[in-house]
Amino acid sequence: MSHRLADAKRVIIKIGSALLVDQDTGTLRRAWLEALAQDIARLKGRGQDVVIVSSGAIALGRRMIELPSGPLKLEESQAAAAIGQVALAHAYAEVLAQHGFVGAQVLLTLKDTEERRRYLNARNTLFSLLKRGAVPVINENDTVATSEIRYGDNDRLAARVSSMIAADCLVLLSDVDGLYTASPEANPDAELLPEVTAITADIEAMAGKSGTTVGSGGMITKIEAARIAVGAGAHMVIASGRIDHPLAALENGANCTWFTASASPIAARKKWIAGTLETSGALVVDDGAANALRSGKSLLPAGITTVEGRFSRGDAVRVVDGAGAEIGRGLCAYDCADARKIIGHKSREIEHILGYRGRDEMIHRDDLVLVKG
Ligand code: GLU
Repeated sequence: MSHRLADAKRVIIKIGSALLVDQDTGTLRRAWLEALAQDIARLKGRGQDVVIVSSGAIALGRRMIELPSGPLKLEESQAAAAIGQVALAHAYAEVLAQHGFVGAQVLLTLKDTEERRRYLNARNTLFSLLKRGAVPVINENDTVATSEIRYGDNDRLAARVSSMIAADCLVLLSDVDGLYTASPEANPDAELLPEVTAITADIEAMAGKSGTTVGSGGMITKIEAARIAVGAGAHMVIASGRIDHPLAALENGANCTWFTASASPIAARKKWIAGTLETSGALVVDDGAANALRSGKSLLPAGITTVEGRFSRGDAVRVVDGAGAEIGRGLCAYDCADARKIIGHKSREIEHILGYRGRDEMIHRDDLVLVKG
C-alpha cells in the first residue's frame, strides 16, 4: 500500500502542531521541517502536485506574545494565530525555496469550503497555484473564525481541501503512527490496523478509545477526515511525523493506517453529481453537441440553443436534447444570466461578450455525467 503515495497525482500533507513546534521551548523545529521539505521536493520532482495543510500558528504565536500555558480564550488564540502565522508561512517559504519551490499562503475558513461561490474561488486559486508549480501552504484563518464557524482542527480542513481539489492521497502526519484497536499506552495487546476499508461503528469505537495525546480532536477528527477524504475518492493515511523524513519512511513501509477509497476522485465526484444534487435549470443542446458529449467531450457554449431555469455558477443543471430528453447532468461553469449571453458563441468570444475570461466550457467533461443507455 506504500506505493499509494508514490502513485498519487495530487497529495495533501497535513502537519500537526506537535510536530512543528517544540513543546518545551515553543519554537519551530527547523531541522525537522527542512528534512520534510526534502521529502516534498522529491515528490515535486516526480511531477506530483503537493499541497500542505499546516497547523502551528497558535503554538508558535502564543510564545512570541508570552501567553501563559494552558487553554487560551478565543481572542487570545486568535491573536496568537495572527502572530504565529507570519512566522509559520515564512518558515515554509524558506525551506521550500532551498529546493527552488515557491510557497503560497492560503488561509481558509469553514465558509470557504461550504459556500459554493467561495468554494469555487478557493478551488480556482489552488488550481492556479498548482499549475504554476507553487506549493500552497494552507491553514485555517483562525483570526476571523469564531467558535461556531470554525473547523478548529486541521484534520477535517485537510480532508475538505482534498475533496475540493480532487486530491488522490491525503497524508496526516501526526504524533501517533496509526489507528490501534485499543489505547497503545494503556493496553499492551493493542494492535495497529494497517488498512481500514470501511469506517464502521467498530472503527469509530476504536478511535474513541485510542486516547492519543494529539490536539483537541485526536483520533476522532482523523476518522471524520477519513470519511470525507475517502468519500471524495482519496486514500488517506495516518502516519507518524515523529521521525525525520516521514514521507520517505512511509514509502519504505513504515507503520501506518491506510483508509482506502474505492473510487477515483473523478468517479467519486461524478457519482455525487449523478446522485445527490437537485438540478436548478437545463441546457438544451443541438445534435452536434449531443454527439460530442456522448463521445466524451465537454459541453461548449456554441452547441447550446436554450438556457432554462435559474442557477448560479457551479450549480447542477440538466443537459437535454431538442426533444427534451435528458442526455446528462453536470455543474455549469456560468450562472444562468451569463450562460444566456454566450450560448451559440465560440469560446474565444466569451471574454468579449462578458468582459471577463471564464472557462471555455459551459460544463467541463469532468463535471458531467451522461445518462446511461
Ligand atoms: N489552525 C491552528 C493553528 O495553526 C491549528 C488547528 C489544529 O491543531 O488542527 O495553530
